[in-house]
Amino acid sequence: MDINHVIYAVPTVPEDVGTEQRIDWLTNNLNKFCVLPWLNMNTNPNGNVKLCCSIAMDYFVANKDRPFNLGYDDITQIWNGPHMQNVRNLHRQNNGSDDCLDCYKIEKLSGHSPRKGQNKIWVERKNHDPELADYLTEVSNEKLYSISDILPLSLELRLGNQCNLKCVTCWGMSSSLIHEERKDMVKSGELMKRDLGWLQEKWTEDIEAVEKADMTEWYETDTFYKNFRLMAPKLRRLYTTGGEPTLIKANYRMLEELLAAGNNTCKIEFTTNMTTWNPKFYENLSKFENVEIQMSVDGVGTVAEYIRYGTKWDVVRENIKKVFEMASTRPNWRIVCYSVLQALNYQHITEIWEVLDEESKKYYKRVDWWPITLNYPAYLSLSVIPIEQRTASLPRIRDIARRYSSGSAMFTLGSDALTALEDSISKAPYNEELSNRFKAYKKYLDSYRAQNG
Ligand code: SF4
Repeated sequence: MDINHVIYAVPTVPEDVGTEQRIDWLTNNLNKFCVLPWLNMNTNPNGNVKLCCSIAMDYFVANKDRPFNLGYDDITQIWNGPHMQNVRNLHRQNNGSDDCLDCYKIEKLSGHSPRKGQNKIWVERKNHDPELADYLTEVSNEKLYSISDILPLSLELRLGNQCNLKCVTCWGMSSSLIHEERKDMVKSGELMKRDLGWLQEKWTEDIEAVEKADMTEWYETDTFYKNFRLMAPKLRRLYTTGGEPTLIKANYRMLEELLAAGNNTCKIEFTTNMTTWNPKFYENLSKFENVEIQMSVDGVGTVAEYIRYGTKWDVVRENIKKVFEMASTRPNWRIVCYSVLQALNYQHITEIWEVLDEESKKYYKRVDWWPITLNYPAYLSLSVIPIEQRTASLPRIRDIARRYSSGSAMFTLGSDALTALEDSISKAPYNEELSNRFKAYKKYLDSYRAQNG
């Protein structure tokens, strides 16, 4: 069923709900309404625009028959054009838009979704941001539903694929080096000789997609910076990832544009692989009040060096220390560590906790840790390991987790994070075919990279 063609009346907010509480009511009581169509914009690594990062690859904000691109199209046209107006209408009718189907599916299965999370974040945020509160009041006021000259207050940008690593879990759209390596692998013919035709096919498709995309120029165009300057004065959140964002010049140029616009309260969030320390980037960052540094750490020592190929663990360790040192004197700076949970690291996660615990104690700075369960590429997921083998590691993991269960410590393992970790390890179904693919892939990778996994 195409939900865009089912028309419902605009839900009626009860009369005893005050004007300023309408947004709270809408987000608490409707099951398709989301605030992001009035707030957030996301780009793919080639600059094509989507509404948010939870939207499937091929649902773009469209300009007739092609996606809008932040490097080549005017932001006012992107954000106030028919596509976004239609999405906003569908959301205020609690009708749901096709763009958001994945989100609704996740919510139906688990009761949780990015929609619920984002509604909560932004509605809470209005409590200490009067201008945002006024704006959300307008959004929720039926007379002003058709606001037509707005700009995003939150940006999630993937500026190309420039990266210094070749992580085993990555692909060419996110790493320029992986793209080059896989081109070489595909060209060599070795994959076919080793019965890895399935990889040859997949990587050939990926390579073609990257070669067709503009991964370097769209975020250096005059239009991109003109668009950014228009949004800069009121922007509440700038999230960037890559590639490796600290290496991409446009990322620190955007910080300069925000400062030039007098906006040092915009929350800056970025995900980094921690392998580099770009003084210019961190110098600019130090001028912002609200920062969230998302460290992406999948292992310690040789585990990190194997998974995130190109990593020198000693350098990462030193940079983790620098992040804690820098954030320790800035109360509004938050540190979060994400680990991509996969076949190669589920037994080594506790070593990451030890590092976080050590630095958080030394600098008296809180850090949160969260596992992200890897689904793609499936041949590296937990499903390649028999369940008994995986669950055998759980008693040791639980035992170590107890050390970090005190709510008063700077590094405390949240029960949600631990449950997510245990559930992923114990519940992912075993798949023998994937397991064979994992072994064949690893054997080939080790011979290509002259290493022993
Ligand atoms: S409903 Fe989900 S997918 Fe749609 S904008 Fe909100 S968070 Fe994103």
